[in-house]
Amino acid sequence: MDELRELYQEVILDHSRNPRNCRHPGDATCQARGDNPLCGDQITVYLKVDDQGVVTDAAFEGRGCAISMASASMMTDLVKGKTEAAAKDLFERFHQMCTTDDAASAEGTELEKLQVLSGVRDYPMRVKCATLPWHAMSAALAGEEEVTTEK
Ligand code: ZN
Repeated sequence: MDELRELYQEVILDHSRNPRNCRHPGDATCQARGDNPLCGDQITVYLKVDDQGVVTDAAFEGRGCAISMASASMMTDLVKGKTEAAAKDLFERFHQMCTTDDAASAEGTELEKLQVLSGVRDYPMRVKCATLPWHAMSAALAGEEEVTTEK
């Protein structure tokens, strides 16, 4: 379990113990459930998108490991106030950061906040935990209700 100790940095622990936006907003306009059977993470992401395509509220419910919970907490914080396009773009850049060594461009951007999760790139199983909430967010925006890391 050394890999976990290495990944469970303070920021991750804080977010997983006190997740932000962990609730079910009654006025959500779309939602999607993300399932990562390899780890047992199950997260439902709720989004409220206005007429202009801006995500005005983002929240989640579910259970999972510290990585997935922390990632969901950070994701909901970050996409709030963004347009759908900007939210998807951030997901793409985060995914890249989790799967490649090219993290140089994160400095000074909002990706920097997510950098704490980028250690998962050395553990492919954990990449699925970190990206699950983002997959669910993206699925919700696309009008899908479910997404799984195993297809
Ligand atoms: Zn997990």
